[in-house]
Amino acid sequence: MELTHTADVEAFRAEARDWLRAHVPARPLPSLETAEGFAAHREWEAVLHAERWSVVSWPEEYGGRGVDIVKWLVFEEEYWAAGAPGRVSQNGINLLAPTLFDHASVQQRARVLPSMASGEVIWAQAWSEPESGSDLASLRSRAVRTDGGWLLSGQKTWSSRAAFADRAFGIFRTDPDAARPHQGLTYLMFDLRAPGVTVRPIGRLDGKPAFAELFLDRVFVPDEDVIGEPGQGWRIAMSTTGNERGLTLRSPGRFLAAADRLVGLWQEQGDPADTALRDRVADAVVGARAYELFTWANAARFAAGETIGAESSLNKVFWSQYDIALHETALDLLGADAELADGAWAEPWVFSLAGPIYAGTNEIQRDIIAERLLGLPKGRR
Ligand SMILES: Cc1cc2nc3c(=O)[nH]c(=O)nc-3n(C[C@H](O)[C@H](O)[C@H](O)COP(=O)(O)OP(=O)(O)OC[C@H]3O[C@@H](n4cnc5c(N)ncnc54)[C@H](O)[C@@H]3O)c2cc1C
Repeated sequence: MELTHTADVEAFRAEARDWLRAHVPARPLPSLETAEGFAAHREWEAVLHAERWSVVSWPEEYGGRGVDIVKWLVFEEEYWAAGAPGRVSQNGINLLAPTLFDHASVQQRARVLPSMASGEVIWAQAWSEPESGSDLASLRSRAVRTDGGWLLSGQKTWSSRAAFADRAFGIFRTDPDAARPHQGLTYLMFDLRAPGVTVRPIGRLDGKPAFAELFLDRVFVPDEDVIGEPGQGWRIAMSTTGNERGLTLRSPGRFLAAADRLVGLWQEQGDPADTALRDRVADAVVGARAYELFTWANAARFAAGETIGAESSLNKVFWSQYDIALHETALDLLGADAELADGAWAEPWVFSLAGPIYAGTNEIQRDIIAERLLGLPKGRR
């Protein structure tokens, strides 16, 4: 594999770097898990969008630059290295959009993608239910046929930033008599402010209020907001999970930038006599580089027309464990009260603790790796 970039890619990198240097806010924005921070991050999305940096890999007609995966990864490296804000649009951009590119009609894409690219409409993921997390196919929320559309009823939970988001995408049971739980499900989009929707915020470990549970009482969804064929929701949802666990949600640029910051922290505050901690800093750099190389290998496979299936579970387990180790190293370096500080490391550390849970828990990912990649016998289920 060729690891040097072409002049064209390097020119793109330079353009992105210059733009980010000129536009990234001088002071960090407030947390996007608060109402104030959510609004500030929405404005940042509009700034990105104005010069087509919010969705660089999308076609130009939807607000992107139509660049390939190599340039997208290079943009991510520059984005995180520049200390740019976390992406409040990530559920839409990373999860719903790839699903729409694969399964939606041309009209749906034209209707949904431009306002997602600009941050005008911010999307929440409404998949999990109180009794259906890992065993998602057991979900009970339903959609019942009505004139011109569907009526949604039921309860969703753990919906990130749904307390402030505009719209949501989810899977609903449309055929309760289907032979298997994976059948008879339908994937659709709905408005979080529609009549019949109640959004109840759930406080996080750090008290930030953006998580929410959603109560749905005969919420009308027109046919034009169904993605793909009714009854095909599971198949469509599985194309979303590959994106969530794989490289789009956690591109290596984030970890390279975080490992760099960690090295800077060590240089400023590290105790040279603490060789055990110094080794953990070195491990963080090794991990970031290993993940980078693994991702470039995956990107090369994409570029060659291959797809990534169960391998995305390897990514998921790796980045989620790595994220915790990196942040714990930073906190140990900062001292005993670092967890309590509202600083550049404490909030991402709290969030890293959730990495082995969201996007499918690591126990489930290990089962997928064991069974589908390694061909080992089925275990717990
Ligand atoms: C920060 C965060 C953000 C999230 N954001 C969203 C969101 O935006 N939208 C959304 O829909 N959901 C979201 N979720 C929910 C998340 O997807 C679920 O929490 C996750 O799928 C696990 O489901 P559960 O919580 O019901 O736990 P359970 O499925 O009840 O699992 C509990 C424990 O049992 C283990 N377990 C369960 N079944 C098995 C098995 N067969 N074999 C081995 N171990 C098993 C699990 O691995 C886990 O350790 C979010 C969660 C977090 C923490």
